[in-house]
Formats: sequence, structure tokens, C-alpha cells
Amino acid sequence: MPRIFVLADSKWQMTKDQNFLCPCCSGKPYVKCCAVYHEGKPAETATALMRSRYSAYALNNIDYIIRTLHPRHPSLSQNLSTLKAEKLKFSLSTTFEKLEILDAKELPDQATVVFIAYLKQGDEDVTFTERSYFAKVDGKWLYVNGDLFPGENRSVKM
Ligand SMILES: [Zn+2]
Repeated sequence: MPRIFVLADSKWQMTKDQNFLCPCCSGKPYVKCCAVYHEGKPAETATALMRSRYSAYALNNIDYIIRTLHPRHPSLSQNLSTLKAEKLKFSLSTTFEKLEILDAKELPDQATVVFIAYLKQGDEDVTFTERSYFAKVDGKWLYVNGDLFPGENRSVKM
């Protein structure tokens, strides 16, 4: 059983088992979706990694967020416990309402995924659109970095 960190006031709090729908909006139960990646299986595609990172944020699984960062990711230049604390503060104060993948381009060792993350912090809409870059290192997809655009921005291209 994967370790689950359930957001106190999220819709996932009510579930007694892990058959709740995956936060990545795949329509599949969590156990048959991102849980396998959270438990250690490498994501087959960059898009799968992106989805699993979104659900990891939704489930406050910060260790997964950190271990799927590419060594070149700017966040890794800071102190690791500070980074973890910042990420946890973000995930705990944010409601992850919906993920929408707009586009994905996957090459053998690098990929670009454009998505909209529908998020709320309290009553504030903090939705953003991101063009994110991934690279494969030792057979595993990792998150390199991303270009962020505020709000729901469907004009963002690759
Ligand atoms: Zn999922």
C-alpha cells in the first residue's frame, strides 16, 4: 500500500480505501493510475510523469515531487529541507481541482507537455498554464523545468 497524505479538507478525505478517482483526472481509480508511479514504477511517458506529479501534489506526496526533478531543475540548488517545506506548504494550502493536458510532444529522450492546472487557494483562483520540459535520465523521465502562464491560457503552444 502506498503511503497517502490526504489533504484535510479535500474531497479525497472521505475515502476509506484507495479506490477514489485519481486526482490527475484520468477517470481511473488512483490505485490503477498514478499510485503505481508513486510506488516506484518509472512512468512510461513524460505525460504519465506529469500527471503523476500533479496527483502527488494533490496528495501531498512531496518526496515524489522531489525525486522526479531533473538534476538541472533550479529548485535543487536550494537547501533540500527548505525546498520540501515550501512544496508541502504549497500543496497543503492548495486545492487541486482539475488537470487538463493541452498538448504533448514526446521524443525518445525529451518531451514537452502543455497543461492547465486548475487550482484554488482558499477562494482565490490560482490556475496556471504551463509548458513543461522533461528529459529521460537512466531510462527515467524527469521534470526539467517549465514556462508558467497565469490563468487558463489555451494559446500556449509548444
Ligand atoms: Zn493518475
